[in-house]
Amino acid sequence: MYDPKSLKAEDFINHEEILETLDYAEANKNNLELVDSILKKAEERKGLSHRDASVLLACEDEERVQKMYALAEQFKKDFYGNRIVLFAPLYLSNYCVNGCVYCPYHMKNKHICRKKLTQEEVKKEVIALQDMGHKRLAIEAGEDPVNNPIEYILECINTIYSIKHKNGAIRRVNVNIAATTVENYRKLKEAGIGTYILFQETYHKESYEKLHPTGPKHNYAYHTEAMDRAMEGGIDDVGLGVLFGLELYKYEFAGLLMHAEHLEAVHGVGPHTISVPRIKRADDIDPSTFDNGIDDETFAKICALIRIAVPYTGMIISTRESKKVREKVLHLGVSQISGASRTSVGGYAEPEPEEDNSAQFDVSDNRTLDEVVHWLMEMKYIPSFCTACYREGRTGDRFMALCKSKQIQNCCHPNALLTLREYLNDYASEDTKRIGEELIQRELQNIPNPAARETCEKRLAMINDGKRDLYF
Ligand code: SAM
Repeated sequence: MYDPKSLKAEDFINHEEILETLDYAEANKNNLELVDSILKKAEERKGLSHRDASVLLACEDEERVQKMYALAEQFKKDFYGNRIVLFAPLYLSNYCVNGCVYCPYHMKNKHICRKKLTQEEVKKEVIALQDMGHKRLAIEAGEDPVNNPIEYILECINTIYSIKHKNGAIRRVNVNIAATTVENYRKLKEAGIGTYILFQETYHKESYEKLHPTGPKHNYAYHTEAMDRAMEGGIDDVGLGVLFGLELYKYEFAGLLMHAEHLEAVHGVGPHTISVPRIKRADDIDPSTFDNGIDDETFAKICALIRIAVPYTGMIISTRESKKVREKVLHLGVSQISGASRTSVGGYAEPEPEEDNSAQFDVSDNRTLDEVVHWLMEMKYIPSFCTACYREGRTGDRFMALCKSKQIQNCCHPNALLTLREYLNDYASEDTKRIGEELIQRELQNIPNPAARETCEKRLAMINDGKRDLYF
């Protein structure tokens, strides 16, 4: 039976409820009176249920779709301003005991080059990432209790935080590793991680079991209930995601929103972020063998509707997407993007030799971080390297409260400017510096509280005098 408060996967991601939702959405997609009433409800900025949002996803009326895009863009401005947070993934190890059929790290792949970074190599990678200007990482690893036990992950986190190279520092480490125990989540929390990210891949249980035929990841309930264990282990910020292309996107969309509703119902706080990866070509993976790929237009509509349905949740787009697609969805509610990513194990300090491909998937956006920062600023976005919230204890419901009260403009906005100032002084090219200077001057005026504006100006001057890591 469907029950968002239940702790059992099959109750809160209830198959029958999703099927009924899809039938309801299909039956009402041309019911413009209903669609308009849902859009009206959306305007209250309190989010939408999976049923209401599914009706909007099914609706193809051009005028209404444009209204959805306009609302998404407005919500993005209202809750997140024009800041875009930047991060990079760091692959620690591609040893894996699972059999995920879409991932080249699957155990039966005998020709991919298996690698696991030593602490010395982690250090080199982190120095290379710091030298680009990165402050925030998402660490990634395959699931392998022998090669990548939790102690290894914790040791890497410790190494990453300990490296202070020139003015560089990694100030937030998010973690994307396989579902684990409450005890291990507690250890991750104690190691000072930011968000725990785990993609559901697909919410469709039968497909999930076929797509994960072997290994611990085969267990649908254990995987789907992971976020509850993470929260029980004290992690406040969790990141959801679906790998689009595996199952019907309308099914996944309803499942994703039901998962968010479940977290809100049980823990009083929804997901901190939602990621929207699409399957990409990889070592022995051909995306065209999966039947459910979605085109760019559908992808954009999904992003816009996530923004409308969960207005306070951050949305992440990786370099799986091209510059063109990223440009389109930035307007529709994306709040975080990766830049200059390598999906190989190692590869930041020195490019990986061609003969030893260890990459998880091909990236579509190969630009340098400086090019990404420059491009964002040309579009009038503020590239932000801020990591202040979780270090100030603004996690979980406290972050959501800040977002809802719109105090973000007096806090995250100045923090974005301060971290951009650091980036411009320490890492930017001359051209990037030039447009960055103009942007900082212009955006200072958009700090509503005069006292906060004045403090921000003082701190910008302190950064010019050599101080680092100042934040609100
Ligand atoms: N092993 C961990 C797990 O089981 O969740 C860590 C995740 S993996 C390093 C990161 C994510 O990459 C996966 O959750 C999956 O969604 C995505 N991924 C795997 N193969 C992919 C492919 N061929 N194209 C795009 N994304 C892929």
